[in-house]
Amino acid sequence: MSTLTQKINFIDLNAQQQRIRAGVEARINAVLDHGRYIMGPEIGELEQQLAEYVGVKHCVSCASGTDALLMALMADNVGPGDAIFTTPFTFIATAEVIALLGATPVFVDIDPQTYNIDATALAEAIEKVAAAKELRPKGVIPVDLFGQPADYDEINEIAKQHGLRVWEDAAQSFGAEYRGGKACSLAEVACTSFFPAKPLGCYGDGGAIFTNDDEIAEKLRSIRVHGKGSHKYDNVRIGVNGRMDTMQAAVLLEKLTIFEEEVRLRDQVAARYSEKLGGKFTTPPVKADRGSAWAQYSLLSNDRDSEMAKLKEHGVPTAIYYPKPLHLQEAFAHLGHQHGDFPVSEDIAGKIFSLPMHPYLSEADQDYIIAALLK
Ligand SMILES: *Cc1c(COP(=O)(O)O)cnc(C)c1O
Repeated sequence: MSTLTQKINFIDLNAQQQRIRAGVEARINAVLDHGRYIMGPEIGELEQQLAEYVGVKHCVSCASGTDALLMALMADNVGPGDAIFTTPFTFIATAEVIALLGATPVFVDIDPQTYNIDATALAEAIEKVAAAKELRPKGVIPVDLFGQPADYDEINEIAKQHGLRVWEDAAQSFGAEYRGGKACSLAEVACTSFFPAKPLGCYGDGGAIFTNDDEIAEKLRSIRVHGKGSHKYDNVRIGVNGRMDTMQAAVLLEKLTIFEEEVRLRDQVAARYSEKLGGKFTTPPVKADRGSAWAQYSLLSNDRDSEMAKLKEHGVPTAIYYPKPLHLQEAFAHLGHQHGDFPVSEDIAGKIFSLPMHPYLSEADQDYIIAALLK
């Protein structure tokens, strides 16, 4: 086995920065020159480019992926008494925003192949909540976990039958595809994050909401600035301070110039891992009708602790997304869930771990990681 010549990063933002540093500096300098730090011209330029990339009429940029989800729910007046269906195997933000608005997250277990919300279980959960008549079924937040889009055709159809809204949590899947459409165009409203470690990341916090609906887009632009009406000091609804900084838009505009290539490079890294590790591990299956943005490349192992320890000995960083499903988090203790309520999520949470994944992972470093794992 070859020796390591340089440090292996879990995500390598430096390698990317070396490629685009001059362009990023020029973009940031332009902001320093015009000085419009709040809602400067880069915001509109970015929103137009993102909307075009995704193939949706409106993009409303905002301060984070969490704000994107929160604002999207606010635009539909989500509040107490509303049931919002989502997966317990996701980042806390997905369900946190539901609870923040006083609504109730109703968890639905995941598909053991994709780790995304199970559409059959979703239909059952909606019927159960509707029959109990305690909560009003209002909408669904499917999550495109690790970058692979959920089963939108099935989910959108179920939601339509019950009159529910679908909000796509595409925080991990910007750049992915599903049946000819891009992630962020797969539901009526879609939310993404530009946190630095996401497939498209800025140099701080950032997010965006996408929709073809003119009315929702207008509401979102109002909610983003304290519920403004015709001007800043006319407030027609309760909103938030949810704007993206002009500086972050400037960074994203430069990063967008190489993004398509980076999506391809991530896909090559994933294919190489799967080809060489498939015999020994459960590698992440991507369904034939979609592609992943590979926010994470995750394996399942019955002995994850020793696999991770072995990699650590060889200087290879790993991570666990997510060690504890949301229904077992103390923050959601008020929902009264127990171990065993969502067995697939619990099983996967006990076996999953993620390998270094970024567009600049060299074949030599990848082979080193693979050799260490196969030892
Ligand atoms: C990262 C993430 C979010 C939140 O995005 P932030 O920009 O960190 O607020 C929401 N949902 C999922 C699935 C995420 O991975």
